[in-house]
Amino acid sequence: MASSGWRHLDVGVIGGGIGGMSVAIALRRAGHTVTIYERSDFAGEVGASVSCAANGTRWLHEWAVDVEKGDPVVLKSLINRDWYTGEPVSVYSLDDYEKKWGYVYNMFHRQYMHAMLKDTALQAEGKGEPAVLKVNQKCDKIDLDTNTITFTNGSTVQHDLIVGADGIGSAVRREVGIHPAKRPSDQSCLHCNVMTEDAVRLGLVDYSQNAALEYWGGQEGKWDKIVLSPCNGGKLLSYYCFFPREQGDYTTQQWGADSLPTEDLLRPYPKLDAQVLKHLAIGKEIQPWRLWVHEPYPYLHKQRTCLLGDAGHPMMPHQSQGACMAIEDAAALGILFSEGYFNGSVEDALAVYTQVRLPRATKVQSAAAKAAYNINERIGFSNNKDIPTYKVEDQKKVLTIEEMNAYDMYRDIEEKIAAQNGQKYSGKFICGLPIGLQLPNGVVIGSEQEEQPRL
Ligand SMILES: Cc1cc2nc3c(=O)[nH]c(=O)nc-3n(C[C@H](O)[C@H](O)[C@H](O)COP(=O)(O)OP(=O)(O)OC[C@H]3O[C@@H](n4cnc5c(N)ncnc54)[C@H](O)[C@@H]3O)c2cc1C
Repeated sequence: MASSGWRHLDVGVIGGGIGGMSVAIALRRAGHTVTIYERSDFAGEVGASVSCAANGTRWLHEWAVDVEKGDPVVLKSLINRDWYTGEPVSVYSLDDYEKKWGYVYNMFHRQYMHAMLKDTALQAEGKGEPAVLKVNQKCDKIDLDTNTITFTNGSTVQHDLIVGADGIGSAVRREVGIHPAKRPSDQSCLHCNVMTEDAVRLGLVDYSQNAALEYWGGQEGKWDKIVLSPCNGGKLLSYYCFFPREQGDYTTQQWGADSLPTEDLLRPYPKLDAQVLKHLAIGKEIQPWRLWVHEPYPYLHKQRTCLLGDAGHPMMPHQSQGACMAIEDAAALGILFSEGYFNGSVEDALAVYTQVRLPRATKVQSAAAKAAYNINERIGFSNNKDIPTYKVEDQKKVLTIEEMNAYDMYRDIEEKIAAQNGQKYSGKFICGLPIGLQLPNGVVIGSEQEEQPRL
């Protein structure tokens, strides 16, 4: 892939969340100067768990992130339980996950994960120049021709490349001309935290022992679902509680306000398994998670400005891939602007970025919307075809664990760069997936019968 045009860039990243910190790491390692502009000062965040499956974890290792700092729980299984009795309905074992995919499935607490990434981005140790973080800098406008960012405090800066990692309400997205077609989901979500030691003290089930991502409900095509993810080494149980929006509309309420009353959390669930209900009854920091369904955007960049993470492809949380997709975006930019890949043209590199990232993120986005009311569409459970309740919209289109974890981003980028240069790509991959890979849904990558566009 040797490309001789590499040059140093001065990069401005807007938004210092999971995606912003990740791209700062990836781009500093590629030899660039990075400044992150964050509107908040990160004080007073209320956190919850964030999933980092193998497709995210692999980049943490590639970037030499000290993963232990994030105090993760390494997941051993995905368990779907009966809504009323709590008995397992579908179990996806992760026993051979690391052996098969090379990396573990981590469950982090968001603040710990964020701190871990922030340290890696800003610290003196490590490859490249430490990134600089400027807080209380809210992006207001961008002049795309001059690459000038104007902040709400009136100050301006200019960069060679601007990355909009400013989350679901992105200002950068507006500035690149995307006005989302979005609607509130028919589903609401409240989140609460339960301390494992509180549950154990009260004689309740110690779910932390399972080291599992556990789901109640989700099989019946209803909106009701409880998702439990242990984090902070098992000390904290993070509960996402879903129910129909008509039973409580939180679309306009902000995450991070005062805790809501426990009654709001318990009201939708009169018939839920009593074991888990008792956990919810001692839940703290009850916060609304606003759920909006966004149609995919037409592109991820304009001129020398691009979108990353939730700014570019916000998704429902039901595939637990929001953070992983942001990390993958960051990895793609890290590769595209590294020696051997970057030809010196920011526009060329961003054109490939859109081609590589948009189809993959869009497929996950669409699968996340389906898994909202059918857990059989969720990566992992989508492989469990032999359970009596297994039913999916279209077997050939389910998102499989193989597509997520066998994906080789380097090969995907090389294929797209070859096309951009008018060259024939001779690698044995299509869109980053090995030709001949057999997916559990019967699809074989590169076969003539393969109808769906690949990730
Ligand atoms: C407070 C908070 C809690 C979250 N908790 C969870 C969770 O428990 N579980 C989960 O799965 N996901 C959670 N998420 C979402 C998850 O972190 C993201 O889906 C994922 O990590 C993608 O990251 P991102 O960097 O694209 O967006 P985010 O992580 O949302 O980061 C966006 C950043 O941009 C900043 N920003 C926004 N607008 C501007 C602007 N105009 N100028 C400058 N900066 C701006 C925001 O303050 C934020 O720091 C949370 C997000 C936030 C902000």
